[in-house]
Amino acid sequence: MVQLRHGIWFPHGGALNPKRYAQYMSQKAESFLGTTVHEITYRDGGWWLYDCLGQRIATVDTLVIAAAQHSKSFTPISFLPLSSLLGQISFTPKNENSYKLKASIISNSYLMPSIDGFHVVGSTYSRDGFDENEWPQPVTVEGHKKNYDNLDRELKSLFPDYQFDQWLGYSAIRCATPDRLPVVGPVPEAKKFKRDFARLSHGPRGKFPSGVAYQPNLFVLAGLGSRGIMTSALSAEVLTSQMLGEPWPIERTVTTALSPSRFLARGIQNSLLEKI
Ligand SMILES: Cc1cc2nc3c(=O)[nH]c(=O)nc-3n(C[C@H](O)[C@H](O)[C@H](O)COP(=O)(O)OP(=O)(O)OC[C@H]3O[C@@H](n4cnc5c(N)ncnc54)[C@H](O)[C@@H]3O)c2cc1C
Repeated sequence: MVQLRHGIWFPHGGALNPKRYAQYMSQKAESFLGTTVHEITYRDGGWWLYDCLGQRIATVDTLVIAAAQHSKSFTPISFLPLSSLLGQISFTPKNENSYKLKASIISNSYLMPSIDGFHVVGSTYSRDGFDENEWPQPVTVEGHKKNYDNLDRELKSLFPDYQFDQWLGYSAIRCATPDRLPVVGPVPEAKKFKRDFARLSHGPRGKFPSGVAYQPNLFVLAGLGSRGIMTSALSAEVLTSQMLGEPWPIERTVTTALSPSRFLARGIQNSLLEKI
């Protein structure tokens, strides 16, 4: 029997199948699957979406850009410092020791109870050595090894005869922000923001405009690379309440911490530091 040294027990914790979750959440949405939006333009009171041939895909009143790391290819949010990290999870065959596991155990790596004969062990973070446009991303033995090495000693002991070449996996790009928080909210007009809030470069005091000028009905939800599925539903709820002018489900300070404008404000404030 495996004995763990310490931990916190979350009785209501669980694991989600991301594909089934996404299918469930989007079942009532009209989808244009397999269509890449190349450009967006605001015209005649709406956002016009075009493909790479310049053909119009759709016109919408309100647009949420949620294209992960590709979001920054759209000019109004090209100021967002979104970066790409490669991640791999490993699917490890269950064995006579491991199949008894009843709950997910999270440490450096996490180990999930077996489903359909495999445990999920994850996951890696790599900053370089990949092409972010490649799909699917290759699953490597090196990734499996990292996931295994990061398991606690006690969990490793469940897999005495591990053979990485029998492990399966999934590898994909995570869209990350410098502060690891998602980007959720209305899109500011970047140039105007820099002009209006230029005084921030002298410090936080002084006279500032009473509000931020935003792009009309344009929102973003991205940067979900770290624990992103966990925060996605609440992020979407925040966005919806902002769109509809309803009370927010979280405090203003948290909304500010998630706001796309934070990066513009920090850019100006950092220029203050450069002067010192
Ligand atoms: C290995 C790995 C392990 C992870 N583990 C966890 C975990 O344990 N817990 C957790 O909560 N999260 C985890 N995550 C993070 C989670 O998977 C992501 O947060 C989530 O998938 C991000 O969702 P998203 O919709 O923002 O981006 P994506 O899922 O990347 O979706 C973006 C979509 O936009 C589409 N798109 C891009 N550009 C365009 C365009 N120009 N036109 C049209 N469509 C476009 C893409 O095709 C894609 O369908 C993990 C991620 C990875 C890679």
